[in-house]
Amino acid sequence: VVATGAQPIHPPIQGLDLAGVHVLHTMGDSFAVQEALTSRRPSSAVIIGGGYIGLEMAEALTQRGVAVTVVEQLPTVMPNVDPELGASIRQELERHGVQVANQVKVTAVRRHGAGLLVAGAPGFQQPAELVLVVVGVRPNAELAAAAGAATGVGGAIRVDRRMRTNLPDVWAAGDCVETYHRVLDRPAYLPLGTTAHKQGRIAGENAIGGDRVFAGSLGTQVVKVFELAVARTGLRDDDAKDAGFAPLTVAAVEYDHKAYYPGAHLVQLRITGDQQGGRLLGTQLVGHRDAEVAKRIDVAATGLFHAMMVEGLCDLDLSYTPPFGSPWDTLQLGAQAWVREAGHAARR
Ligand SMILES: Cc1cc2nc3c(=O)[nH]c(=O)nc-3n(C[C@H](O)[C@H](O)[C@H](O)COP(=O)(O)OP(=O)(O)OC[C@H]3O[C@@H](n4cnc5c(N)ncnc54)[C@H](O)[C@@H]3O)c2cc1C
Repeated sequence: VVATGAQPIHPPIQGLDLAGVHVLHTMGDSFAVQEALTSRRPSSAVIIGGGYIGLEMAEALTQRGVAVTVVEQLPTVMPNVDPELGASIRQELERHGVQVANQVKVTAVRRHGAGLLVAGAPGFQQPAELVLVVVGVRPNAELAAAAGAATGVGGAIRVDRRMRTNLPDVWAAGDCVETYHRVLDRPAYLPLGTTAHKQGRIAGENAIGGDRVFAGSLGTQVVKVFELAVARTGLRDDDAKDAGFAPLTVAAVEYDHKAYYPGAHLVQLRITGDQQGGRLLGTQLVGHRDAEVAKRIDVAATGLFHAMMVEGLCDLDLSYTPPFGSPWDTLQLGAQAWVREAGHAARR
């Protein structure tokens, strides 16, 4: 069973080998950052990469009193959710004192007095005492490929749904393999712990004579960024279009629980469904960390797993009490908005 995981991408940036620059991926990397924080007590940091790990680190370093700048080459942070939600996440970072530089491509890290200088285009220069590089991962498939294993999406080891490679008696699982995407009905590369655990169990059972089939991934994720929870499952509009669906994505903003009960927070929803037939294709949510965002994305993920219609979400018998929800749950209100909008679109 091959479970060699992923390796961090080392982007083409000069100076990644300088002291004070950390490419962050393993526990060992995190211990090195911890050691740098305690022994050198840096007061400023630049984080290259505005994905979920970069933003988690931005929060963690801010809590430690470090002034953080996040640099992301794309127009919004957290590029795996829609830009409208990325803008809210940026506001949350800025509200906590994190500087965010979008559309900046870092090209070099240089020595600068006793510290470092991060340079990028166009015209970006930011001094820092600590630099973290978190720009994604790629499958660690070399070992298996050298033994003759076929590779697929993004260079990941190709496996079938029993986690078999093309080599006899060789199974593979986790961040090193491509994963069967349940909505796309084809392989994708989604390096997530949830996926790795399920695939690992199947590879292990099958390697000792079992016959388990991997049910598939949806790319369900949740992450905390300061006071926000950000979650997604399934496809976004562009992914769905590329896959041949006729997607409609409808945005809604709804309270997480009855507004008259103290502590209600608004949740931003984006529901994507197929206009031909009404099937749910994906959901994205951003809301306060107390707004049960993870529960709600998991309801959407359950619906997606079972190929539900968006309208079907409205019929689910979900729990209700004023401190936690409404008789129509937040997700159901979003689904109703989708159904209304799809009806208007069909009549136009
Ligand atoms: C900072 C961080 C935060 C994350 N947070 C989340 C999260 O919140 N939710 C989520 O779902 N996922 C998260 N992930 C992703 C999750 O950690 C991975 O998807 C998961 O660990 C993959 O498991 P794996 O067993 O395939 O690979 P790994 O956990 O990477 O294990 C692979 C192991 O194989 C070893 N190895 C590689 N090559 C060889 C070799 N030739 N010989 C011997 N050993 C070898 C490696 O050293 C490594 O220890 C996070 C990842 C990171 C880096």
